[in-house]
Amino acid sequence: MSDYLELQGIRKRFGSANVLDEVNLQIREGELVTLLGPSGCGKSTMLRCIAGLSDIDGGRILLDGKDIANLPPRSREIGMVFQAYALFPNLTVSQNIEYGLKMRGVDKAARKSRSEELLAIVELTDKRDAYPQQLSGGQQQRVALARSLAVRPKVLLLDEPLSALDAQIRKNLRSEIRAIQRQFNMTTIFVTHDQEEALTLSDRVCLMNKGRIVQEGAPEAIYTKPRTEFVARFMGSYN
Ligand code: ADP
Ligand code: MG
Repeated sequence: MSDYLELQGIRKRFGSANVLDEVNLQIREGELVTLLGPSGCGKSTMLRCIAGLSDIDGGRILLDGKDIANLPPRSREIGMVFQAYALFPNLTVSQNIEYGLKMRGVDKAARKSRSEELLAIVELTDKRDAYPQQLSGGQQQRVALARSLAVRPKVLLLDEPLSALDAQIRKNLRSEIRAIQRQFNMTTIFVTHDQEEALTLSDRVCLMNKGRIVQEGAPEAIYTKPRTEFVARFMGSYN
């Protein structure tokens, strides 16, 4: 399988700080890659640059063979879910899920059929007419996931989608996300600062530090064969 999303030498500065320092990353279609690393290492910035919410200062972003770095966010065909549920509070669950389709001029019947399909997948069919504040945190994140999938993005970016949730809900939702990701064969970048989450969820882990990917590989290799002391310490395999 060839690379589907390819980041080549991505650079991002804020003032004099190199927040992304020549980052290279290749992701195959259907792969779930985790970006793992301490707070402030550049994970969110990386996702924002891929989604087009931040401009890059150098490098290329290739999606399915096309350089998307200069396209506006909506033309990039990339879905994103954030840590804090960013649902529209004044729209119902269905309306939230259908929002992106409506913006793209999809007719009502097609929107309805797509949102019903996604409601079934995230098991919230009975909540279709509820408002976000009537839902638990975990349910809100399932709506956010359904909303981002509704427009059939080519890539899904998840920025610490579970970190605001309780431990048990986090575990359940972790396996739900993985199941849905596999069902759709959705190329996904999952950002977390939680080592266990990264090790259990991903096909491949990229460990970041200070704007660079310092080691990448299969989850077990990152844990058992850390190449630097930073990696060993961060993964908790240092003793
Ligand atoms: P992470 O998601 O890994 O915690 P971020 O990507 O949010 O890290 O931030 C990486 C670095 O970039 C941090 O030092 C942060 O303070 C800085 N940064 C992020 N966004 C901005 C911004 N809009 N302006 C200035 N500095 C920023
Ligand atoms: Mg972040």
